[in-house]
Amino acid sequence: MINSITDIPKECRNCGEKNIFGRSDKKFCNDACRIDHNNKLKMEKRGDYPEFVKHITKILTSNYQVLRKLNRNAKTIVSEQQLTDLGFNFHYITSYLTIQKGDVYHFCFDQGYLKIKDNQVLLVAQPEQIKT
Ligand SMILES: [Zn+2]
Repeated sequence: MINSITDIPKECRNCGEKNIFGRSDKKFCNDACRIDHNNKLKMEKRGDYPEFVKHITKILTSNYQVLRKLNRNAKTIVSEQQLTDLGFNFHYITSYLTIQKGDVYHFCFDQGYLKIKDNQVLLVAQPEQIKT
């Protein structure tokens, strides 16, 4: 007799629900979880991402292009309007940096900005961006 114990609860591989009883080879709490899990696996295999990840990646890439376009000589001052006119979305960045004065630089990859007075924005570039 192998695997005859059926009363030990296991975790659902999809949602982590801990109360799966039944056959010892049962891996999901229900069919919806099983299907959802298999779809995720398929997506990962394709190197695909959920829609919202694709959408945010698009925004970040677009923000990056706007900053690069306007930041011609590493330190440029533009207006917020110029950025929004080109489709810049202030809600999405990849990192931020607070300096001693308390100013917060926001970055899209190596391209960054600092909001200064009168709706003006200072554009900067920072070559070293990868921190572990
Ligand atoms: Zn589940």
